[in-house]
Amino acid sequence: MRTKKLAIHWQILIAILLGALFGVFLSEHIKYIQWAGDMFLRALRMIIIPIIFTSLTMGVASIGGSADLGRIAGKTFAFYISTTLIAATLGLVLVNIFQPGVGADVGLSESVESIAATESSFIDQIVGIIPANIFADMADGNILPLIFFSILFGFFITRVGEKSKSFLVDFFSSTYDVIIKITMFIIRLAPIGVFAIVATMIGKQAGDMNKLVKTLSSLGLFVGIVWAGCLIQTFIILPAIVRFVGKANPWKHMSKMSTAILTAFSTCSSAAALPISLRDTQEKVGVSNKIASFTLPLGATVNMNGTALYESVAVLFIAQAYGIELTIVQQVMVVATVLLAAIGTASIPMAGLVMISVVLSAVGLPLEGIGLVLAVEQLCDMPRTATNSYGDMCAAVVIAKSEGEVLKI
Ligand code: ASP
Repeated sequence: MRTKKLAIHWQILIAILLGALFGVFLSEHIKYIQWAGDMFLRALRMIIIPIIFTSLTMGVASIGGSADLGRIAGKTFAFYISTTLIAATLGLVLVNIFQPGVGADVGLSESVESIAATESSFIDQIVGIIPANIFADMADGNILPLIFFSILFGFFITRVGEKSKSFLVDFFSSTYDVIIKITMFIIRLAPIGVFAIVATMIGKQAGDMNKLVKTLSSLGLFVGIVWAGCLIQTFIILPAIVRFVGKANPWKHMSKMSTAILTAFSTCSSAAALPISLRDTQEKVGVSNKIASFTLPLGATVNMNGTALYESVAVLFIAQAYGIELTIVQQVMVVATVLLAAIGTASIPMAGLVMISVVLSAVGLPLEGIGLVLAVEQLCDMPRTATNSYGDMCAAVVIAKSEGEVLKI
């Protein structure tokens, strides 16, 4: 008789716990396991560019007629912008209520020169969406230009002759199928990879436990607010949207997507979770390929609920720590800038932290403030990345339902 295998999300959860224990108690041995985490992350990164290119091209090509494309794209953007605004505002409300920065130790700041140097203007970002060399952008992992090119390519597939069109659609969907198979193969190794990632991450800080405890005691409220905000967005607001707008069962949905959510949480990269969410949204939830392969890759890049929430909390926290009072108008400006910054944030670890510099300079706050939140970056990146990914998965469900699809949730 076959013994029933433990579901993969449980395996990952256990791996996170075991990894944390290993990191705390055996921190001097992490060098023996770090490679496993590195290999797992590299394997996930390996498929990100091919999966975005094939799935988006195919998604846009199969949405076909321009009326469909326009409608689905319109709904997707409306969903992404409104949920990001809700998240940013939620962050603002929480940080105003609890005031974590008032009296914070500003002396804690670390050097942030390297971060400030990466700041680029919005105009540059917008111009950069058009790839001057698509291969260079792919090689550098620049996702927005890749998305732009894939949408364009998919769209014009629908404008060529029938023979070429069906060849290209077949070609891209077959390639996509192969990549999903590779993904499934990599996911089986996730528990080992996640164990090593978490053990290494915690092990590296374990040597400095005293410092961590000290930092946490002064930044604890800040971290607590980021977690509370992400939990409210993930367990109340987004499920409510799935329930009332999507008319689907959010808890069934969440449980089917738990492998992807846990992968986002433990890798701190929503791009890394994308292959898994693409597969499960179609196979377990039943969203059509055309909607999943449009909403999810786009969402992984532009839709960042957790990051928006984090950034508005962090910016207000920094303002409070410096004793700078922001007016309501300035706070509204923070939300607007956070929306744009979150769209521009790459779906990789720590990207949200880097983008805070954009918001800080937009509202005229000292860039050095980033040093205040640097010490607890990892702790904030985990929940916000999980929220980022989950937001995309909810969009896929709500939009599929609005298009009359019958789902398994
Ligand atoms: N790590 C986040 C993500 O991949 C981005 C961020 O740093 O906020 O979604």
